[in-house]
Amino acid sequence: MCPVRELKKIVGDVYYIPGRTNVGVIVRDDWCIVVDTGLDEDHGRKIINIIGDSGLRIKLILNTHSHADHIGGNRIILDRVKPTIMAPSVEAYFIENPILEPTFMYGAHPPEGLQGKFFMAESTPVSKTICEGVDEELSLRYVSLPGHSFNMHGVIVNDVFFIADALFPENLVKKFGIIYHFNVKEAVKTLKKLGEVSCRFYVPSHSEPSSDINRIVNVNLEAIDKVRKLIEENITSKISLEELFSNILQEFKLELSPPMYFLYSSALKSYISWLIDDRVLQSMFEDGKLYVYRVK
Ligand SMILES: [Zn+2]
Repeated sequence: MCPVRELKKIVGDVYYIPGRTNVGVIVRDDWCIVVDTGLDEDHGRKIINIIGDSGLRIKLILNTHSHADHIGGNRIILDRVKPTIMAPSVEAYFIENPILEPTFMYGAHPPEGLQGKFFMAESTPVSKTICEGVDEELSLRYVSLPGHSFNMHGVIVNDVFFIADALFPENLVKKFGIIYHFNVKEAVKTLKKLGEVSCRFYVPSHSEPSSDINRIVNVNLEAIDKVRKLIEENITSKISLEELFSNILQEFKLELSPPMYFLYSSALKSYISWLIDDRVLQSMFEDGKLYVYRVK
């Protein structure tokens, strides 16, 4: 089923195409900048058709980060209409070398199950890297939003803030309990930063645009806090990482395929790093297992 429906106006020349991954569309004269391209070729084809039907040309693609559901439409759009692709540094390496995505999640060359379209898009070249600040030429302001991914950036235009995956809608947070963040400590800082950036509209990648995000910021912060507390409560004495993760995943009643297990254990490892950094946990190796234990 195609997740893309139509071009919806947010304000002025700023639009979005709602879908499983929302796609931002910033219109300039007879051309536009597309913010992210969805999961796959099908999504990319729909973007081409919707924008083409509007009489616009896709001149630029801005990828907020390198996750497959944000860059999967790049290839077909590049082949058909030859836009320039822009992305933050580091994310650009992953977009150009997509095997890196499942590789870092698995920690070695990934098994086949981790090389499907949900973890690995087709490679596309990134011609311009972006960093935090104002892009005078395009009248855009890029905002660094690290945490969910290595170097995710959002973009502000005409008081509309495309915030990518800095936060997730309440239904997904409640459904999964554990939301993937590469660096959960940084993700918390980014969520707090979002509350301080005043804009007329905020457009998350996976929910409707909103003019007030404070409540959903808190929902995301509370979910992170809940996972952290649950990990702490589950460490009454030394426990192996495998047993700890098993306890946490069972607590959230998560039934996972092997590829999804790698995603979730990567997310949980980020909490372990955070707790070690905060001097709450330490790790040790014994009897062929890696254990963690409380020091605070
Ligand atoms: Zn993402």
